[in-house]
Amino acid sequence: MKPDQTHIDQWLAARKSQKALRNPEQLFEGLQNGSRSALSAAITLIESENPEDRKLAAVLLSRCKKVAKSAKRIGITGVPGVGKSTFIESFGLQLLEKGLKIAVLAIDPSSSVSGGSILGDKTRMEQLSTQEAVFIRPSAAGRTLGGVAKNTREAILLCEAAGYDIIIIETVGVGQSETVVHGMVDFFLVLMLAGAGDELQGMKRGIMELADTVVINKADGANETAAKNARTQYASALHIFSQRPDAWQVPVLCASGLNGVGLPLVWQEIEKYFTHLEQKDLLAQKRAQQEVVLFEQLIEEQLRQAFFLNPTQQNKYKQLQQALLQGDIMVYEAIAELFEGKQS
Ligand code: GDP
Repeated sequence: MKPDQTHIDQWLAARKSQKALRNPEQLFEGLQNGSRSALSAAITLIESENPEDRKLAAVLLSRCKKVAKSAKRIGITGVPGVGKSTFIESFGLQLLEKGLKIAVLAIDPSSSVSGGSILGDKTRMEQLSTQEAVFIRPSAAGRTLGGVAKNTREAILLCEAAGYDIIIIETVGVGQSETVVHGMVDFFLVLMLAGAGDELQGMKRGIMELADTVVINKADGANETAAKNARTQYASALHIFSQRPDAWQVPVLCASGLNGVGLPLVWQEIEKYFTHLEQKDLLAQKRAQQEVVLFEQLIEEQLRQAFFLNPTQQNKYKQLQQALLQGDIMVYEAIAELFEGKQS
């Protein structure tokens, strides 16, 4: 049967647009014109692990690097249910009134590890997502957290080249994703709930030490007094930590993402923090340091992958694992055998 010409035309048109979606020059032009679909396609391209796409992505990224205007990079974390999306929606709408362009990128460790998602499985930020000056990318793709970090870091660059002023990186307060996000933003905001328990909120894992500002969220209605008490407790807990190298005093604020109360104060603190960094000439230094840390993390990841992809080492590893389980060998002997070829 002869194929219908319309189908051929449609197929050719679809192929052409798919190609265009991966063409670095066209994507770059789209970014410069503020096209959200070009930004979305550009992020998909940099997330691709296909070697051809990696080459195209490298061309695009180096084009962007030359023009990207630096944005304020803000990380927001907190346990599921703390009110992150409600907060970002209200906060984003307030920033829009100041004429700022906002991008929201999410890192969701559950989606990279298990394929499920904590952040992406509900309709989020409904009002914000319909705004012209807002770009929302629900969840970064990647097989490992290091890979997700690299992709998000590159997505930040793309957003900066597309002229966004504020880039919010949202993450769930579970696993290690806060550390990853902390390592790629200028300012890190931790949302807390009054009376939810320190263990649950990651306090024991040192989340507070990462915070540049702590917000006791849902400080409204019957919860207001409890929130104020929690604020006093957290503020005195923060005093216990020794002075930070950047000499910043971490404020603890009360806010309600739901009714917007306290959000202008959060923005005021963010601006104060950036002024503080700029006055001390610390912003560029902080970002450069973050690049070095990411570099080291990615080296570790490459080494680990190379190790487990090597079939000889993989076999040896399995044998030694069995020997360890049976108590036939001690762990340092196993390491010596694996890396130095020494037989125990
Ligand atoms: P996320 O999982 O951290 O993104 O949290 P959500 O923004 O989805 O909020 C979880 C629940 O808490 C929802 O039912 C919200 O309506 C509610 N919520 C969020 N922010 C506030 C707030 O500031 N005050 C009150 N009272 N409820 C809130």
